[in-house]
Amino acid sequence: MKIEKIETYILKDKLSKSFFFSQWEYSERCICVVKVTASDGTYGWGEGYGPASVLEAGIELLKPIVIGLNPLENEVVWNQMYRKTLDFARRGVLVASMSALDIAIWDLKGKILGLPVSTLLGGAHREQVKPYATGLYFTSHEDPSRDFDEEAKLYVSQGFKAIKMKVGLGIAEDVKNVKRMREVIGPDIDLMVDSNHAYTFREAVELSRKMEPYDIKWFEEPISPEFYEQYSDLRNRTSIPIAGGECEYLRFGFQQLIKNKSVDIIQPDICASGGLTEAKRIAALASANGVDVIPHTWGTSIGIHVALHFIANLESIPGRMKKPDFLMEYDQTENGLREKLTYPPIEMKDGMIDVPKRPGLGIDIDEEVLKRYAIPKGELKKTIL
Ligand code: MG
Repeated sequence: MKIEKIETYILKDKLSKSFFFSQWEYSERCICVVKVTASDGTYGWGEGYGPASVLEAGIELLKPIVIGLNPLENEVVWNQMYRKTLDFARRGVLVASMSALDIAIWDLKGKILGLPVSTLLGGAHREQVKPYATGLYFTSHEDPSRDFDEEAKLYVSQGFKAIKMKVGLGIAEDVKNVKRMREVIGPDIDLMVDSNHAYTFREAVELSRKMEPYDIKWFEEPISPEFYEQYSDLRNRTSIPIAGGECEYLRFGFQQLIKNKSVDIIQPDICASGGLTEAKRIAALASANGVDVIPHTWGTSIGIHVALHFIANLESIPGRMKKPDFLMEYDQTENGLREKLTYPPIEMKDGMIDVPKRPGLGIDIDEEVLKRYAIPKGELKKTIL
């Protein structure tokens, strides 16, 4: 069995209404997906997280390394990609290109063997995961959080038990929004905040302390991901757990976060940080250091399914009779590629999502949707996420 063909697609969905967070505005979603086909015609799908045009170029670069290798030996394929690009791409988008290929190969391997990815990873410790709603982005109004109340009430009515909101507008405005959100959703829904590294260390300390009365489950990316020691200092100055890692790559990057005691929760994006092969190693590193893992997700339903299988396989340390729920990030912002690209659809029942039991990632691509969203090769030159 050999990997015979690798095809990339850049998919673009123009949004009906743009939204923004502390760093920039989104007016469209643009994602690079990859299809890897084996010599027997079986194929798997993967997705990268990063600028789509650069991801596609990275996959083109990796193609000659991967073609001809055995898809059942996915760690060997991973190591070949890593070793042959190490000298110029230890971090960043090329690792995300590797991740997309690695994920497609896991899907392919599962389909060849007739086993779900969670089984290939070692087994599902749980049959369901608990999605949390990522939303509450800012909109271009005089009050950028004008629509927060209505949006949060919608998530609660849909059955979400945990919601993550954006902060990063400035300390006073953030505190006002967080206070209001806690009042809107009541005491029983978990509330997380994410500033996307909008603050300096001192600002983050002040904001954390002012948010403490509102029962915040975690404060995500309070400061720049470069400042590992400042993260650690912040943890010592607030009772709110600190989360981060969506801008980190490979086990070597996560080792920096863990060695510096920077975070309570690491958030590898499996579609960027090295794929499922590396995510399993990152999880082992976290487990050995008592750090929780809740992956970052952003993109199509391929990435959501990757997270479902990965989270199903995460060990509960130390474990207890009444098992804790394991959280999965479930982006709720407008994105046609998340709901329509794959089938069967993702279904949430009573605030939980089942881990698929079908082979591979448990999905296939709707070719009609793929054609509708795919843009012609070479058209995309802008760097958009
Ligand atoms: Mg985030």
